[in-house]
Amino acid sequence: MFWNQQVEQLPRMDMIAWQNHKLNKVVERVYHKNLVYNTRMDKLALQPDHIKNIEDLGKLPFMDRQDIVDNYPYGLLVMPVSGVSYIHQMLDGSKLPTAMSYTKKDMSMWAELMARMLVAGGVNITSVFQVVIHGDQYPGYLGVHDGACQVGATVVPADGDRVLQQIKLMQDFGVTGIFSTTEYLLEVARKMRQLGSCPQELPLQVVFCNMQPSKHDSVRDVQKEYGVPVIEIYGLGDVFGMGVGAECHAKDGLHIQEDCFYPEIIESASGQVLPNGQIGELVLTSLTLEAMPLIRYRTGIRGFLDYSQCSCGRTLVRLKK
Ligand SMILES: [Zn+2]
Repeated sequence: MFWNQQVEQLPRMDMIAWQNHKLNKVVERVYHKNLVYNTRMDKLALQPDHIKNIEDLGKLPFMDRQDIVDNYPYGLLVMPVSGVSYIHQMLDGSKLPTAMSYTKKDMSMWAELMARMLVAGGVNITSVFQVVIHGDQYPGYLGVHDGACQVGATVVPADGDRVLQQIKLMQDFGVTGIFSTTEYLLEVARKMRQLGSCPQELPLQVVFCNMQPSKHDSVRDVQKEYGVPVIEIYGLGDVFGMGVGAECHAKDGLHIQEDCFYPEIIESASGQVLPNGQIGELVLTSLTLEAMPLIRYRTGIRGFLDYSQCSCGRTLVRLKK
C-alpha cells in the first residue's frame, strides 16, 4: 500500500529533475536570507547560480551538529521568527542545546512523510495506533503522531514513563500498531511477563521503532517478543526529527524520502563523495524545509545507498546498514 504513490514510485529521471529544481531554489534562499550561509559561500566565491543541480552540491561545504550548536537558537533561520510555528529544542545530556524550527508547511510535510512511512509498514484507517513518548522525546516524535492522524488511524498518544498504564492501554483499546523505542518495548515485554502475560497476546500487527545504528540485536529481540514485523524509522532531531526514512514491509533497507532530503554518502576523513554501493557516512540536504533548511549535514550514520527498485514497488532510494 502507498500513501503517495506518485512520489513513492517516481521514475528516477523525474526524481532527479525535482531534486535539481529544489536544490537550486533552496541554495538561492539560504544565500540571500541567512548570513551564515552567505558568508561561507562568499568565502568560497560561490554564487547560488553556481549550484545548478545536484552534481554541483559537492562545491558547498558540509555542516555538522557544531554548526547548529554555534548558531543556537535562531542563527540558521532563513526567515523572521514570526514565520516559525514550532520549535523543537534538543537538550541531549551534557551536550549544548540545539533547536530546529518549522513553519506550518514544514509541519504538514512532516505529517505527510510519516503517513507515507506508516502506510508502508501496514498502518491504515482501521489501525489503533499507540505512540509511546517519554516526556523529553515528545518534540521529535510529534510528526509520528501527526502522520498517524493523517492516515486516519485511531491514535492513542501515551506517556512512556508509566509502563503499567501503557500495558493496560494496549490491552483495553486493542492496539494494533505501536511506535516506541526498542528499549521501551523490551521493558514493556519484561513487565508483561512479570504480570503473567506476554506481548504476543496483544492484537498487534506491526511495531515501529527508532532506527538502530547497526544491525542490532534489540530489533531482533523486539520481533521475537512481540511476534510481529518491527519497522525501523530514521530521524535526526537536528535535521527533522523522526521521518527522514523508514523500512517498508520488505525490510531491505530504509527508504529515504528523497523528494525532501537529498542523501549523499561520503568518506568521513576526506569528505569525498563515494560511488553508490560503497559504505560511508550519510550526509543529508533538506530540499523542501522552509524555516531552517540544512545543506550537506553530516549525520554520523554509516551505510550505503541502493538505488535499485525495492520489491515493495517503491523507487525511493534505500539506506542500507
Ligand atoms: Zn520497499
